[in-house]
Amino acid sequence: MSFIRKPLCQACGTPMLVALDQEPLCPACQEPLTASSLSRTRAVGLYRGALAEMIKAYKHGDRLDLVPRLASWMLASGKDLMDQAKDEPEAPLLVPIPLHWRRQLKRRYNQAALLASAIAKTSGAPLCQDVLIRQHFVASQKGQSADQRFANLYGAFGLREKRRALIKGRRIILVDDVRTTGATLQAAAEPLIEAGARQVDALVIALVPAPSSSYLASESRQKDDDASQFDAPIQD
Ligand SMILES: [Zn+2]
Repeated sequence: MSFIRKPLCQACGTPMLVALDQEPLCPACQEPLTASSLSRTRAVGLYRGALAEMIKAYKHGDRLDLVPRLASWMLASGKDLMDQAKDEPEAPLLVPIPLHWRRQLKRRYNQAALLASAIAKTSGAPLCQDVLIRQHFVASQKGQSADQRFANLYGAFGLREKRRALIKGRRIILVDDVRTTGATLQAAAEPLIEAGARQVDALVIALVPAPSSSYLASESRQKDDDASQFDAPIQD
């Protein structure tokens, strides 16, 4: 089992080889173009080996008996998120990522919601299950690029109007099983920030590491180069 240990990127939670200073950021998170409204992500481990097998068994093999163990690991890995900061008027609120009703019908349970309620039960942290609604159905994103995923998920989540007052001024901890590119968490964070949440963090079981930690950064630089070529006046 490859548990994530420090040093890790303070933003996306990816493990790093060396700690550069007090609050290191990985190259992808240092790139201003990828700066997101999601503040911090914490994960138990990388999506590989025994941890990946456990997640597959939980999601697709009805192994609900794994919930208490996974939730206690998440609680340990997310300690710095779970603690209420001195300047925070209220404890952060746990919000699971909802499944689209079509998918939930097929799977019969929402894996993120079960984890969130186990975490809430153990830690005493407040939980609200029905803050977000899934506005459109997104087919399986397997094999799609990060850019495609972000585009597919744009506007995928909305806020339940009756929860607006609960969100305002509060720090939210989104709970999900796996972070692949971060597109889902990002899409879920957007309506919360819009509704006045003071900060949105995320707690997941596992991170799928980017092909290289600077993957997104180099990709967006590439696009900038293309754009400047396009805009450049034709010389001859
Ligand atoms: Zn990072």
